[in-house]
Parts: sequence; structure tokens; C-alpha cells
Amino acid sequence: MEEQRKRTDISELGEFGLIDHLTEDTLIKRESTIKGIGDDAAVIDSGDHYTLITTDMLVEGIHFDLAYTPLKHLGYKCIIVNLSDIYAMNAVPTHVTVSLAISNRFSVEALEELYEGINLACELYNVDLIGGDTTASLSGLIISVTAVGIANKGKLAFRSLAKPGNAICLTGNVGAAYLGLQILEREKSIFLEHPTIQPELEDHQYLIERFLKPEARRDTIAWFEQHNIVPTSMIDVSDGLASEMLHICKQSGVGANIFEAQLPIHPDTYKLAIDFNIDPVTCALHGGEDYELLFTIDDKDIDEVRYMPDVFIIGNITPANEGIRLTTSSDVTHPLSAQGWNHFKK
Ligand code: ADP
Ligand code: MG
Repeated sequence: MEEQRKRTDISELGEFGLIDHLTEDTLIKRESTIKGIGDDAAVIDSGDHYTLITTDMLVEGIHFDLAYTPLKHLGYKCIIVNLSDIYAMNAVPTHVTVSLAISNRFSVEALEELYEGINLACELYNVDLIGGDTTASLSGLIISVTAVGIANKGKLAFRSLAKPGNAICLTGNVGAAYLGLQILEREKSIFLEHPTIQPELEDHQYLIERFLKPEARRDTIAWFEQHNIVPTSMIDVSDGLASEMLHICKQSGVGANIFEAQLPIHPDTYKLAIDFNIDPVTCALHGGEDYELLFTIDDKDIDEVRYMPDVFIIGNITPANEGIRLTTSSDVTHPLSAQGWNHFKK
């Protein structure tokens, strides 16, 4: 009798567990591969500089819902999320490719709208669209973008070089995109029940825009360049601040202490979280898709970074044995765990 093969559900491993499992035997053969799997972008030695490469796929029904996502915004966002991963290495994006799987539900005009957004992002961020692939899909739209970038040698910021004593810094504010999504989901369910009621979106423009039309922090990378500062580690906030902090700590072999009172939360985020009966700090720690940058800074650079525009010092790196902690406003310390957005969660 044939032995029955074991069947493991993907949800048992989760997204990151699955990537680790599938790639544990992957070997690096070429000397030019400076960084393979495990950072925001891979790094290839190109002689006098490094070439960076990253790829991200957006899937209808998983990453976006066309009931409330204008195609132009979707086109814009699929470029931005990839550029963000290049900036997260302290590098500059230069080129993108765009691959589409399209169902026959889409018209040429609809895809023209998608490309308006793609072209706008490429223009504003000064990257060239240089190729891609187009194919059919049985259901739904799938967009896969690859971004290429360049960096000077010695300027890269990996996830793995944070040291105890480093300051933990965060750009902009976090939690806004998550609440933007909650508003859109709420208005969608109201519309499905009562199609004559007009959605109430005007009051929440900032939050909705943070979700539908995010920007990548090229200003932060330009500032580092001007001031000749290289963060000791950096990651972009796509899954949520806590999850990204865990990545830095795991890969750097360090701990972290984050101060709740220092977390930058936009007033609109704060107000709407209360209206929705969610803790604003939970939104800030676990809400994803803000595309801000989380980075660590060596002591020698900290005085300059204090004056960096739109950057907040939210904590410090500690030895690994102290764990990853959140110190609340009332000075109580909790271990910080990642909730993130795990698409494989049941
Ligand atoms: P990010 O959130 O910054 O886009 P991910 O969490 O998607 O990064 O990916 C983490 C790392 O795992 C990256 O180095 C990525 O290239 C790699 N990775 C993701 N999926 C796969 C896969 N199917 N095969 C090989 N490497 C993968
Ligand atoms: Mg990233």
C-alpha cells in the first residue's frame, strides 16, 4: 500500500514561516550576490555600485477591492509599494517592470486608467517603466511589479546591523492607512445593504488617501544623502510597525524598547480609532500599509537626526536578552508581538 504523504496546511507556517521553509536550502553561488532573500530588496554587486532588486504582487480580493479602489490609485500604489522597498535599503529606484494577469471583466479603458496611475508614479519618482508581461486570468486582477535601484557602496542599510544603544526612529505617522481601509470597508457594507445611501467619505479624506494613494519616503533617503548619514538598519512599514521591528531585531540579534508615548499618531487616526472603538496605539503598532520608514541610528549621528524633518525617535535598541518591549505611558512594560497582516491566517 502506498504510504500516505503528509499534508501541511500553509496557515500552520504563516507567510514568513512559509518563505523560510521553502528557501532554507537556497544557496548563493555567485560572488556578486551581496544579499539574497531576507531584506526589503536583494543586492547585487555591479562593479562600482550596487544594484537593488525587489518585487511585490497585488492580488484582487487579497490586497485590493475594486468596489472602492479607483484603478488610477491602484496603478499608483503598485509602483509606490515597490519603490518603498528600494528606499528601505537607503537606495534610489531607477526602473520598474509591470506584469498583469487580467480577466475579461476589464475593458481597455479600465486598464488605461490603471496605467495613468502607473505612469504618474513613474514620472513623479523619476523611474522608467522598462517592461513586463501581460496574460489572462480566470478571475480577478493580479499586478506584479519589480523595481530596480542603485546605491553607492558603503551606503546600504540592511535589516541586520542594528546595535544596542542605537536610537529607533520612524518617519511620518502610523496607523492611518489601516483606519482608511476600515472606513472604506464600513462604507462598502452600508452601500451593499442600502444602495441609495451616499458614502460619507469627505470627513476622512486624509485617512482614505493614506490607504488608497500612499507615497514612498524618498525625502528621507535624500536627507541621509545630504547629511552623509547611513542608518545602522532600516525597513519599510508595510505589515505594521511591531512586525517590522521584530524583523530588525531578529535579523540583528538585538532587542528593542519602544515608548508608547513617542509613537507618532495623526490626530485623524486618533479620533477615528476612538470612534471605531479601537485602541489608537494598537492601530499604530499593528496597522499596515503606511509605507513609512523604520530605522536605527548610531549614537554619533543622533544629534543631527533629532532635527530631521518628520522623523520621531520612538525608542532604543537593547541587548537581545531584554526582548522586544513596549513601555506604556504609565511606565508599564509589555512584550511586543507582531500581529501584522498575515494573508494566510485562517
Ligand atoms: P517586503 O514586505 O519587504 O516586501 P517580504 O516580507 O515580502 O518583504 O519578503 C521577505 C523576503 O523574502 C524578501 O527578501 C523576499 O524577496 C523573499 N521572498 C518572498 N517570497 C519569496 C519566495 N516565494 N521565494 C523566494 N523568496 C521570497
Ligand atoms: Mg519592505
